[in-house]
Amino acid sequence: MIPVEEALERILARVGVLGDEQVPLTRALRRVLAGSVVSSLDVTPWPNSSMDGYALRSADTRRASTTAPVRLSVSGRVAAGHVATRALGAGEAFRIFTGGPVPDGADSVIPQEDVSKDGGAIVVSRPVKTGDFIRPQGEDMRAGDGVLDRGRLLGPAEIGLLAALGRCQVRVLRRPRVGVLSTGDEIVDLGGHPGPGQILNSNTYSLMAQIDEAGGEPISLGVAADRLGDIEARLRWGLDCDLVISSAGVSVGEHDFVKAALERLGAEQHFWLVDMRPGKPIAFATIPSAGKRALPVFALPGNPVSAMVTFELFVRPALLRLGGHARLQRPMVRAIAEAPIANPGRRRGYLRVTLSVGEDSGYRARLTGDQSSGILRSMVAADGLAVVPGDTTVEAGGTVPVILLRDVR
Ligand code: AMP
Ligand code: MG
Repeated sequence: MIPVEEALERILARVGVLGDEQVPLTRALRRVLAGSVVSSLDVTPWPNSSMDGYALRSADTRRASTTAPVRLSVSGRVAAGHVATRALGAGEAFRIFTGGPVPDGADSVIPQEDVSKDGGAIVVSRPVKTGDFIRPQGEDMRAGDGVLDRGRLLGPAEIGLLAALGRCQVRVLRRPRVGVLSTGDEIVDLGGHPGPGQILNSNTYSLMAQIDEAGGEPISLGVAADRLGDIEARLRWGLDCDLVISSAGVSVGEHDFVKAALERLGAEQHFWLVDMRPGKPIAFATIPSAGKRALPVFALPGNPVSAMVTFELFVRPALLRLGGHARLQRPMVRAIAEAPIANPGRRRGYLRVTLSVGEDSGYRARLTGDQSSGILRSMVAADGLAVVPGDTTVEAGGTVPVILLRDVR
């Protein structure tokens, strides 16, 4: 049995970043940038006004005051999308609107609400500082600036920035294709009717959703019976995926054939038992293949919670690595236990907790209830996983590290 950290090290040592592809900018949300982006433009391209007002020469207003205001004749106009037809001279002001290019000769803008009008002139009763209300050229980005790093997850702001640079296509990392196999004589897939002793398949669907959430493309490999040949055949079906996950059939029972099936496919096993609860039996293997990188395979435990939690701890970081993400781990927070959080077993506990935010803005954690690994409703209630060493109780008021699974409202 190895610690979680060691297991993760062995996984990440064998998982590399996939290749890239081009997608339209409008399809790039939540994708990962394949190369760093250097600005090809100055944004903004030229000095422009940040207010509706008047462009002028600050020197003309140097001695302006309420008792000795300065009159400037308004002799030009620059709306956004247009340029002045001539330079501004001494004693002049040009009407200008937000986004309008500052005319040559002007060095500042005074907002319209700060002047009074007098026929074809404005009256300025205070000095205007050079550069006032002018957004300088390249205020946002300068040509040659490195603006986004490889591995950056693209969100709305990054998409906007790429649009501002005129990029309608973006090179992003390929989404990992992930095969998901459920195993077990008792498992009936959706659409079927469980007979005596049978239950519906939930693991395939929770795992496919976790894959999707982690940026992968889930592919169901169906449900295999507890027969070596059946499991082997369905795993073979997944050989051209970027990663394969199975659930159940990985313990030491007489009906547990997943490891044997992997062996038949030439897999090299890198670990099997990890010091954690839920989910001790979780095997990680790679299947070598001529001319391409070895296929990582995770044989997850069958209990619905164990499958989801081992996915969180091991498969998710592997998927994020494949997909080129710079950050592989969920955020970890410290929470105060509202009631005792006990881990009675010898193995390190990843206990399901509901989180709330206290008046001091700190997190409070409470166990979701029964921590049995068959209780999917405890995952529904879980905002995070409290990490508690074996044979340890965190008393009420004590702090506990929690892996954040989702935003807490
Ligand atoms: P196993 O790892 O094969 O011993 O399975 C552990 C438990 O998980 C058993 O109670 C199984 O019935 C249950 N289980 C296995 N696969 C699934 C699945 N796909 N959906 C829901 N429960 C499952
Ligand atoms: Mg079984």
